[in-house]
Amino acid sequence: MARKKTKQRPQVGLLGKLLTRRSGGRCELCESRDAPFPWEVPPFPTEPDPDRTLMACGRCRAWLDGAEMRPVEAYFLSGAVWSELPAVKLAAARLLLAVDDPEDPWVHDALDAADVDPATGEFRVVVSEPGSAEW
Ligand SMILES: [Zn+2]
Repeated sequence: MARKKTKQRPQVGLLGKLLTRRSGGRCELCESRDAPFPWEVPPFPTEPDPDRTLMACGRCRAWLDGAEMRPVEAYFLSGAVWSELPAVKLAAARLLLAVDDPEDPWVHDALDAADVDPATGEFRVVVSEPGSAEW
């Protein structure tokens, strides 16, 4: 899947404190302490939203921004897709979609667990309850 590079925006800094507390100062994808920094999952909502933003270390941010991944180094993503945090789950799934061989069994299983639609890169739409429509 081709990835469009979306430039991170400065407003994401507003979530810095909250995310530092949530993540304990670690990358929420791989748990590295190497320069974790907020990363917003595109497309961005109007205001930065913790459910669309995660703490990511230098390497994970580079990958999220489109740098070439080495699948042997990316195995931790199969754990990250089980995160209770939507942003972490979604970011992990986006990276898995970028792995060269999506039919690699572990990649396939991890993408299944994330329940993200490969066509849109978003969570599969859950049928909403009557009366809870957004409009
Ligand atoms: Zn990381």
